[in-house]
Amino acid sequence: MEQLDERPFPPGDYDVVLVGSGPGGLQTAYSLARTGIPRCAVISRDSAPGGMFRRFPLYQRLISWTKPDAPFDRGTREYEWYDHNSLVGDERAHQALAPEFMDRAFDVPARREMEAALVEFAMRGGVRVRYGCEWLSTRRDDAGFVLETSDGEYRCRVCVFAIGVTDPWVAPIPGLEAAPHYVAANAPERYQGKSVFIVGKRNSGFELAQGLLPWARRIVLGSPRPVDTTILAFSPLSIRYLSPYTEHIRGGSGSYVVDAAIERVERHTDGYRIHASGTTWEGELELDSDEVIAATGFRAPVRDLPSLGVAMVNDGRMPAQTPYWESISTPGIYFAGNVMQASPGLRKHGATSSSGSVNGFRYNARVLARHIAEKHFSARGFRGS
Ligand SMILES: Cc1cc2nc3c(=O)[nH]c(=O)nc-3n(C[C@H](O)[C@H](O)[C@H](O)COP(=O)(O)OP(=O)(O)OC[C@H]3O[C@@H](n4cnc5c(N)ncnc54)[C@H](O)[C@@H]3O)c2cc1C
Repeated sequence: MEQLDERPFPPGDYDVVLVGSGPGGLQTAYSLARTGIPRCAVISRDSAPGGMFRRFPLYQRLISWTKPDAPFDRGTREYEWYDHNSLVGDERAHQALAPEFMDRAFDVPARREMEAALVEFAMRGGVRVRYGCEWLSTRRDDAGFVLETSDGEYRCRVCVFAIGVTDPWVAPIPGLEAAPHYVAANAPERYQGKSVFIVGKRNSGFELAQGLLPWARRIVLGSPRPVDTTILAFSPLSIRYLSPYTEHIRGGSGSYVVDAAIERVERHTDGYRIHASGTTWEGELELDSDEVIAATGFRAPVRDLPSLGVAMVNDGRMPAQTPYWESISTPGIYFAGNVMQASPGLRKHGATSSSGSVNGFRYNARVLARHIAEKHFSARGFRGS
């Protein structure tokens, strides 16, 4: 679904400019529009709503659940616990949209079902976005910030970046750069009969392993830290990706989960050799594998924000934020969506930090919109709803 024909928010002066049309951008745009701040522009380089869910998860199934039927009716506050994927709307017509698109083949939505629900939310909720507009660089001026984009300059007092956390981040392991990252992994059938070493044991590593189970001859997941089974039991990961782990425990299936520090990866004409040393066991590991995939994580595509003073954390992968998701070092720059997970949360008040899943950040995006209205625009009489 292409939405490039409608081009609202031409370059110019605005109160707030929001970048991104994934679930974080859509939820924030929806909520900002209801605070009364009159001049909010929303831009995205995509051609339609959905953000990351237009492409990922690579192997097509979400890890977060939606229960089409639950002990509470759709549209109630209580039902939201049973539906971690729908964005939250103020009116019934904008609520609980994910279950409307599920074919119920699984207990979690498929990627395309999630994308369809986000498109529907944008349409029913009147979320307008200037699609096909890429933010390129940023500078300050007297009134705030200037965002240079592919369509021209946007000036604003406040910017909100809902830009996701999907730029590949490759761990600094010698030779690993020769292997594809998760985002460049092939279709599962291309691994038929092959041995595959996956570097990383978090969501994306287990997602790959799960998708490759019917195809690969041998799958090894390797990284220094062991899988924490007590966390796994309560993690959304267990819903979808536990099979590679249980097959490893059971043994004899060709799936292995190894605690090892990968020291280097050598590329040969017909595959790779992985050199590693045990972390929860003593010894060295030298393993040949037809394929290696780096599932070592992602970073936020912050472009030149550090040059404006935006401090970064987590090996430079995420912007450091206040509990209200403002840059700790550059006031007026906020973050929404998955990037919110780098905020420490309202610890003093007992509130947990943000989650990188839709379920966690959809509520935070609403709070953020109200916070921006009150902190930056309340003198003009605008109040959050
Ligand atoms: C592999 C993987 C699987 C995941 N699975 C799940 C899951 O099952 N359930 C779940 O709840 N969460 C999942 N997540 C977390 C997921 O990232 C978030 O839930 C959600 O997609 C993040 O929404 P977002 O709006 O913050 O970012 P995104 O969906 O990534 O959207 C970012 C938006 O910013 C735009 N953008 C970025 N840079 C620019 C620029 N320079 N100019 C203009 N526009 C720009 C992009 O085009 C896009 O529209 C997963 C994450 C990954 C990496």
